[in-house]
Amino acid sequence: MSHLADETLSGLPAIAGGTPAFAQRLPLVRPSVPDPRVILSDLEDILASRVLTNGPIVRRFEERCAETLGVAHCVAVSSCTAGLMLVLRAAGMEGEVVVPSFTFAATAHAAVWNGLTPVFADIDPHSLTLSAEAAASVLSDRGSAILATHLYGAPCDTDALEQLARARGVRLFFDAAHAFGSIRGGVPVGRFGDAEVFSLSPTKLLVAGEGGLIATNDDELAERCRIGRDYGNPGDYDCRFVGLNARMSEIHAALGLASLASLEARVARRNDLAEQYRDGLRAVPGVSFPRIRDEDRSTYKDFTILIEQDTFGLNTGALARALEAEGIDTRRYYAPPVHATHAYRAWDPGPGRLPVTERAAGRCLTLPMWEGMGDQDPPLVAAAIRRIRSHANAGGAGSPAR
Ligand SMILES: *Cc1c(COP(=O)(O)O)cnc(C)c1O
Repeated sequence: MSHLADETLSGLPAIAGGTPAFAQRLPLVRPSVPDPRVILSDLEDILASRVLTNGPIVRRFEERCAETLGVAHCVAVSSCTAGLMLVLRAAGMEGEVVVPSFTFAATAHAAVWNGLTPVFADIDPHSLTLSAEAAASVLSDRGSAILATHLYGAPCDTDALEQLARARGVRLFFDAAHAFGSIRGGVPVGRFGDAEVFSLSPTKLLVAGEGGLIATNDDELAERCRIGRDYGNPGDYDCRFVGLNARMSEIHAALGLASLASLEARVARRNDLAEQYRDGLRAVPGVSFPRIRDEDRSTYKDFTILIEQDTFGLNTGALARALEAEGIDTRRYYAPPVHATHAYRAWDPGPGRLPVTERAAGRCLTLPMWEGMGDQDPPLVAAAIRRIRSHANAGGAGSPAR
């Protein structure tokens, strides 16, 4: 696609004494912020009105999001974590909730904060999202819900999960933290399952500083979430259930509105950058990508690659250290997987029970991805990875491993 993808770096990798690919560090993320002038008049209105939280700007933000997603209700909340907690509470879930382990911890936290038991299910080896087959195999009579994550912005297999939830009579929710702007088979993420919950924190696509958004077509569930974000108090101080303070402030909603205005352009930009990464890395032995169907769109909240040690010549941790020396920031999303963290010892299904998750956790490496990155950055990162590989043990000096 781009001539820049042909860029090569001469000399040794930085970790072996060569010149770093990036003289100035390339950060993993850099949140997009609006021009202050865009929110200034909202800010003046908010301060003049003295309505500081859950007021008219929040209502406007909810309406715009609902229009954008084509969903009946959007309920703005203080975070995605709080939104997930509320949805499970508002839907009256009991017993067990099936969750992936290859996700951010907050997915499972929402279940545990409700006194529910998280039951971890394995992922699909190609998409790395929750496998409906694996979910079916761990869903017991005590299960009341499935909570799946649209990973890195790549939509889950919503059809298979909806079919499973219907067949087994359980509710289906999505942790859509990464996925405002994702599309599954022509349908925007936000319309699937019983509810989907977005994050509006700075590293996500739609940014309000802090915040979350519950999207649902279920009138009753939406109403209970609205009451639930206000302690469970519908206004008469006779709390209907034990809710939270999960309100969104007016200032956050103003930021969210500004972010929504530029969302499409930013998703498009990230898809271009992802394509450049793939162009530069496609032919590198030992590097692969999670699969995204042609008919779907990811937001690329993260751009994650998978490293096969035998063919690449280095393991993932060693590559991360070599990239660090090149001035390239990376993360291991998601290692350790949730079930292997200290907090989840009590719910760890035990060794070998989540083989695909464990394999992905051992191989995943997330590369820098943000809209303001330069066109030259992905090709240069790819060139740095190729240079590191060509000097790795398996390949010898510059020769391919096979
Ligand atoms: C960021 C994130 C969350 C938490 O979102 P907050 O708005 O920070 O509460 C939940 N799930 C996933 C998958 C995330 O990446």
